[in-house]
Amino acid sequence: MFDADFFRRWMAATTASVDREAERLTALDSPIGDADHGSNLQRGFLAVSAALEKEAPATPGAVLVLAGRQLISTVGGASGPLYGTLLRRTGKALGDAAEVSAEQLAQALRAGVEAVMQLGGAAPGDKTMIDALVPAVDALGEGFAAARTAAEQGAVATTPLQARKGRASYLGERSIGHQDPGATSSALLVAALADTAA
Ligand code: ADP
Ligand code: MG
Ligand code: MG
Repeated sequence: MFDADFFRRWMAATTASVDREAERLTALDSPIGDADHGSNLQRGFLAVSAALEKEAPATPGAVLVLAGRQLISTVGGASGPLYGTLLRRTGKALGDAAEVSAEQLAQALRAGVEAVMQLGGAAPGDKTMIDALVPAVDALGEGFAAARTAAEQGAVATTPLQARKGRASYLGERSIGHQDPGATSSALLVAALADTAA
């Protein structure tokens, strides 16, 4: 079972990882975007960590709802509302239980990913964060390590794709040959979950 402290540690691990990888995420957003993905998420997750420390929410659901709200209010780019929706919707699906099972977490994350697809209109293969998140959620039944591998493979597999959503889609065929920044950061989020559970 996973309690609020586990979810706070997941968010702290994500903040540390995004902070460490910010330059790389921004570099990936340079050829097919506007070179701000790393700084967007860095600002967002630093705000998440600060809010979690200040408010110390008592349930897994409340941790993720607060995290999602912070991302929506601090990140101006497309990724803010999308990641914010992912975490907020996942948190809402967890309800107000003090502890949740791995199965409940997997189910809630699926609801979160579906909400992102609904908000952004992206499907698998459109070269977005969805290409890391959907395989991760599909693999979560086999465990956190499997989800991490699936997300990392999903991110790498965006390279040959042509973007059909977001800024990168403006480039048409010229978006081919570059790894998607959002899929890369989604793999960091899933890797942080696996690290926290290990
Ligand atoms: P912006 O493009 O506004 O500068 P970011 O650079 O922070 O925002 O985030 C870009 C990432 O957001 C992309 O790499 C992609 O993964 C993701 N993204 C953009 N649009 C969508 C969408 N409609 N659905 C899902 N993900 C999207
Ligand atoms: Mg950008
Ligand atoms: Mg931008």
